[in-house]
Amino acid sequence: MIKKSFKVHGVYVHVPFCKRKCLYCDFFSCASDNTELMLQYADAVCCQIEQTQAEVTDYATIYFGGGTPSILPVDGLIRIVEKLKQCGFWQMPKEATIECNPGTVDLDKLQVYRQLGFDRISFGVQSFNNNELQIIGRIHNADDALTAVALAKAVGFKRINVDLIYGLPLQNLNSFQYSLQQFCSLNLSHLSLYSLILEDGTSLKTMVDNGQIKMPDENLTADMDDWVQKFLLQHGYKRYEISNYAKTGEESKHNLVYWNYLPYIGFGAGATGFDGWTRYKGVENIGQYIQSPLAVEKEHLTCDNIYSEFMFMNLRKVDGVRLKEYKERYGEDIIDKTLTKINTCIEDGLVEYDDKKDVLRLTERGMSLGDLVFSKFV
Ligand code: SF4
Repeated sequence: MIKKSFKVHGVYVHVPFCKRKCLYCDFFSCASDNTELMLQYADAVCCQIEQTQAEVTDYATIYFGGGTPSILPVDGLIRIVEKLKQCGFWQMPKEATIECNPGTVDLDKLQVYRQLGFDRISFGVQSFNNNELQIIGRIHNADDALTAVALAKAVGFKRINVDLIYGLPLQNLNSFQYSLQQFCSLNLSHLSLYSLILEDGTSLKTMVDNGQIKMPDENLTADMDDWVQKFLLQHGYKRYEISNYAKTGEESKHNLVYWNYLPYIGFGAGATGFDGWTRYKGVENIGQYIQSPLAVEKEHLTCDNIYSEFMFMNLRKVDGVRLKEYKERYGEDIIDKTLTKINTCIEDGLVEYDDKKDVLRLTERGMSLGDLVFSKFV
């Protein structure tokens, strides 16, 4: 492999605070309303930004994720954004997104986000049914979500994403269809649709294991999957990644940095970064991060790691991957070894390779059974 250096294409800032922990969540975030702690955290992020040297493309995307970035006091958010701008990490971003919990926004906050330069907002709505929201421990109800979206539109956000989850406890085909209908009636630009995964260590997993909560059966989630593809397409949302749908030209440019396996930088506790060869991760402890924001764990990736990750990130996209791109980036021709590895997946109709265009991609069936294909690269 040729060891050349790459420029950063995306900048991620992690805000690890939430008003309350949702029952299914295993992201690194803590329930807190301690404004003082949040401001100390913002200062630590500023310190990390100031001390970090990296070559950044002038169009690098910005993404504030969490946790709940919209819980951060506005002063703290302004300090971080100004520091990113001052240090050259925020120049002329292709896109600047902030994630919000619908239960934590108001008109004033949203106006500040627009003034700071955020042009995309992502709401964790998860469902438009109050009983489903309640059972998974969300802090908001369906009306809060509708209000948050209306306020975001009122302050000028044109690019709005909603996250929804399918396979929720209490959900049935009708209630899921209702959530999707509500989403489509809002005429937004983007939808992220995830299936609920019961993660070890979450309260929801314990409650399901104890029989306190029942999950919908697998046939139901398979029915939902069939229906959703047709319904979203009819409403103008094209699937462009396994869990993501957008109107034409409204794809998430920041998330495409990850799926295209391009370098990105991460600031904040538990935030990861990737320079094309090495992955970095900030300490997953808010107190320790505030003490030493520059302490990161490094994982030097082997050639095999890089090849596997390049394949399974890129294959998540409906457009698939040009295999020659790997040679352009890493100097190794992977066409023969890749086709040998996934020969059975091609025979089973999960993957197709267009050798004239040099494009390898999952078929529609492969999109639902992606794990079978990805396992070939592990
Ligand atoms: S708001 Fe998001 S990050 Fe926070 S606990 Fe809920 S799912 Fe997790």
